[in-house]
Amino acid sequence: MNTVTPAHKDDAAPAHEYSAGGNGAVLYDAVVIGGSYAGLSAAMQLARARQRVAVIDAGLRRNRYAAASHGFLGQDGRPPEAIASEGRAQLLAYPNAQWREDSAVHAQKEGGGFLVRGASGASLRARCLVLATGVRDELPDIPGLAERWGRHVFHCPYCHGYELEQGPVGVLAVSELSLHQALMLPDWGPTTLFLNEVFEPDAGQSAQLRARGARIVRGRVARLDGTADVVMQDGTVHALAGLFVATRVRPGGLPAQLGCALEDGPMGPFVRTDAMKATTVPGVFACGDVARPAGSVALAVGDGAMAGAATHRSLMFGL
Ligand SMILES: Cc1cc2nc3c(=O)[nH]c(=O)nc-3n(C[C@H](O)[C@H](O)[C@H](O)COP(=O)(O)OP(=O)(O)OC[C@H]3O[C@@H](n4cnc5c(N)ncnc54)[C@H](O)[C@@H]3O)c2cc1C
Repeated sequence: MNTVTPAHKDDAAPAHEYSAGGNGAVLYDAVVIGGSYAGLSAAMQLARARQRVAVIDAGLRRNRYAAASHGFLGQDGRPPEAIASEGRAQLLAYPNAQWREDSAVHAQKEGGGFLVRGASGASLRARCLVLATGVRDELPDIPGLAERWGRHVFHCPYCHGYELEQGPVGVLAVSELSLHQALMLPDWGPTTLFLNEVFEPDAGQSAQLRARGARIVRGRVARLDGTADVVMQDGTVHALAGLFVATRVRPGGLPAQLGCALEDGPMGPFVRTDAMKATTVPGVFACGDVARPAGSVALAVGDGAMAGAATHRSLMFGL
């Protein structure tokens, strides 16, 4: 693992001097897996509580395809990477926080705590774990769609709808769930729902769409062209300012390795947590997109703050 040396604020012992476990792995109070908005926020609470915390991060934030992040108060319109790197710099100013560029490939209970192994071969031991690993989006397999993801094709109108300047928008149906997006989007621009032979709205759903002013286009979508133009298989082209699509999301393998219960969300499974962001496995907390049915940067930061404080409570009182 590559270790980034923090800018020390005071002369407290640096984390690499912490006691090693039997197998040589460094022991931390908490290891946070995932160093984006949720993980950084959790680690910040723990660092400020003077706990020894390490963050392992593979550097693949979910919003890395977008040029700007919207809707997070105080950071509206900033590049996603700028928000994350400022958070990282603020965290690493605490001498009891460490950063590991690595991908955690295995996590398990060991003794009274946990052992995390990275793809680099390095291992870390922790009294508590925070999962902040986000989710992976699975996009529909339509030529031209993946290249436009985050630039002209989006899943969340709150994040990127305003910038489309009330131009024509489309919803690509992936299931009946897409009806929900098609009913929302008329507030952002004239809306067309492309059914793509995925489902057929019933009479009630068609009436709802009409009442919201959303148009329906039947037939198969062949590809995307131009900005976000939808080209049908019969050659018809629908010029759009932006296209919205609900992705399937995957939480990665670590929650299952640790035995954390999952819940089914409309977009895919997520880690079940209580109001304090505790998972069903004592000592393991989860925050951000991996532990909610739908997320945003602001929600990830809020979840992370709760998970960090709850992890500290668990370290103090064993709750
Ligand atoms: C295209 C797009 C645009 C978006 N735009 C906006 C927007 O404008 N505003 C907004 O509020 N939200 C936006 N979102 C949603 C936002 O990206 C997420 O809600 C937010 O990133 C969730 O933060 P997180 O910390 O939970 O997860 P992420 O930001 O996804 O970070 C997870 C981190 O964990 C790391 N990780 C995962 N597994 C491992 C592992 N095994 N070992 C080590 N590290 C690991 C990843 O590499 C990554 O760095 C957008 C999403 C997408 C897809």
